[in-house]
Amino acid sequence: MPAKVIVIGAGASGLMAAITAAEHGASVTVLEQNDRPGRKILATGNGKCNLTNMDMSPDHYHGGDFALMGKILSRFSNEDTLHFFHHIGLRTLDRNGWIYPYTEQSSQVLRLLLMEAQKRNVRIKCNEKIVRVQPYQQDHNPDQVHKSGFHVYTASWTYTADSVIIATGSPASSVHGSSDSAMCFARDLHIQTVPFLPSLVPLKIRENLTNLWAGTRVHATVQLFVDKVLIASDTGEVQLTDFGVSGIPVFQISRFAAKGISDKKPVCALLDFMPDMDEASLYQDLLNRAAARPGASVSDLLIGLLPDKLISVFAEKTSSGKGNDAQLLRKTAAKIKAFSVTVTGTAGLRHAQICSGGILTEELTEDMECRKIPGLYVTGEAVNIDGPCGGYNLQWAWASGYVAGLHAGDSCMSGLHAGDSC
Ligand SMILES: Cc1cc2nc3c(=O)[nH]c(=O)nc-3n(C[C@H](O)[C@H](O)[C@H](O)COP(=O)(O)OP(=O)(O)OC[C@H]3O[C@@H](n4cnc5c(N)ncnc54)[C@H](O)[C@@H]3O)c2cc1C
Repeated sequence: MPAKVIVIGAGASGLMAAITAAEHGASVTVLEQNDRPGRKILATGNGKCNLTNMDMSPDHYHGGDFALMGKILSRFSNEDTLHFFHHIGLRTLDRNGWIYPYTEQSSQVLRLLLMEAQKRNVRIKCNEKIVRVQPYQQDHNPDQVHKSGFHVYTASWTYTADSVIIATGSPASSVHGSSDSAMCFARDLHIQTVPFLPSLVPLKIRENLTNLWAGTRVHATVQLFVDKVLIASDTGEVQLTDFGVSGIPVFQISRFAAKGISDKKPVCALLDFMPDMDEASLYQDLLNRAAARPGASVSDLLIGLLPDKLISVFAEKTSSGKGNDAQLLRKTAAKIKAFSVTVTGTAGLRHAQICSGGILTEELTEDMECRKIPGLYVTGEAVNIDGPCGGYNLQWAWASGYVAGLHAGDSCMSGLHAGDSC
């Protein structure tokens, strides 16, 4: 009789784990609290699903143990992701290394995953919120082989399984079903965790620039300082909003801001609104503009360099300054290159794409199995590993799901878990 694997959570890593375990002969049931599987997959990449990246290495990731991360990502690489999705019928599109479905529809990624799960006889039961996972000693046979099993509880029902894969994701985003269940299970099971914190999230700032810059998109570099130490930096299209700053470069550094704020350290960001030019060249450019337009104000000199709303920010700073004031132009160049804002917080979990934190990688083996509880696996965002924008978080979900599913399926077939004695 095939051994039973229960996967908690029908998201990216849970579906990959379920398909893989079933492919290796296990009888797999996925329990999902939502009324349908894969809601977060649908939301990815603005509905287009950036499913992996061609520039893949562990140093893109943060959080847990790099060695473990590297091993998981080499056992199921970005090439494996492409191969898997091509094999199940998804044509893909490469946008500067960021990989999307050719149709740019995340719904098709989900549908193909569900068709593959169905083909492998995976049962997906929705509206099943798991509240507790409890290991038990399943039996003692005459050969002294002991085998652990699990009770998996909803509010009104108890499932049993030989192996359980926790694929419950994180509480990030407003997508229905985002939850911290992994933390609750871990607490009950005495597994160590790092608190979930919002990541890939807009940042709030103290300076009130709402009326001046809200709605502006500008090419800029953002440098993040925690306790006056430069921690992270990224360049790209920054969105200036009514509460602070957003856009991909801000998302990329946001995990460090969230951590700094959670540690009650001072956090500030320097915005460079002219990243392709050094300060001396910018100053010289302003001098040249002033010479070409005698009598022009500083804000007039900035036309053609900065978006209108940003010009108001710098005009505000320089009041009615005249463009022939070299000292003022030097100060303006310095401000454009290093505009300092105080970060007071993130926009919160509901506006975050992912979370940092989760179950400590030190608690897990190279098969994503809990060292203390053989037969229990953890995947995806439930693990203390987070990546930047660009398909890295889904790649981690596919890879960790695959490895956990493979081992759960294989060890079920052999009837043993890593910690079992013969
Ligand atoms: C708006 C948005 C855009 C994103 N875009 C991208 C992108 O383009 N590329 C990328 O790489 N990453 C992207 N991400 C991140 C990516 O979606 C996640 O990292 C990934 O889905 C995590 O997979 P997972 O399996 O760990 O969790 P999830 O996919 O979140 O799945 C967890 C599942 O578990 C279920 N669940 C939770 N608790 C329980 C419980 N107690 N009982 C039963 N079921 C439970 C949930 O309902 C959910 O279905 C995006 C995220 C968001 C929010």
